[in-house]
Amino acid sequence: LRALAEIDSLTCLQRRHQSVKEFNRLLKLADRQQTTLCFAILDLDRFKHVNDFYGHDVGDQVLKTLGDYLRKTFRGEDVLARWGGEEFVVGLYGISKELAVQRLSAVLQAFNQHAFLGTKKHLFHVSFSGGVSEYPKNGKDIQTLYRSADRALYSAKAAGRNQILSS
Ligand code: GH3
Ligand code: MG
Ligand code: MG
Repeated sequence: LRALAEIDSLTCLQRRHQSVKEFNRLLKLADRQQTTLCFAILDLDRFKHVNDFYGHDVGDQVLKTLGDYLRKTFRGEDVLARWGGEEFVVGLYGISKELAVQRLSAVLQAFNQHAFLGTKKHLFHVSFSGGVSEYPKNGKDIQTLYRSADRALYSAKAAGRNQILSS
């Protein structure tokens, strides 16, 4: 029952509530160890089109696959979560936002090369956009870090999508 409440069944990533607890724990640790903690929001690009063209089951497969890419890339101490819909959150402990952008851009590149099978054997590709903020530079609590990362995400979408930007 606890796993049901804490883990998103589609992607096997943490759900929002659990990831907030985990992120707050890392914030305290970063404060004590005088290090950084990055907060990243990832949002699939034009995902509504995927559902419209290929149906929700194929859309779900895309969400699940992004979860797989994130899980195989990041360490056990990082936070990996799906915050509902097509929005993912990653917490990266002890690295700068510049390095976080590099790491996430590498995941984006790999994910974007993944060929998904749509209807009528049609292959297609999906990208995402991301925004990254850094503790303590951009904020000291999760709300402020979220807002800062969300502004960077908005800029990434406005700049043409398929990219990761930092605050
Ligand atoms: P943008 O690049 O601006 O982010 O465009 P978008 O189409 O991704 O954004 P929009 O917010 O318009 O659409 C999000 C879509 O995500 C709409 C909804 O159908 C889809 N979605 C949300 N949750 C799920 C889910 O659990 N499964 C599937 N298949 N689709 C989902
Ligand atoms: Mg969205
Ligand atoms: Mg989207």
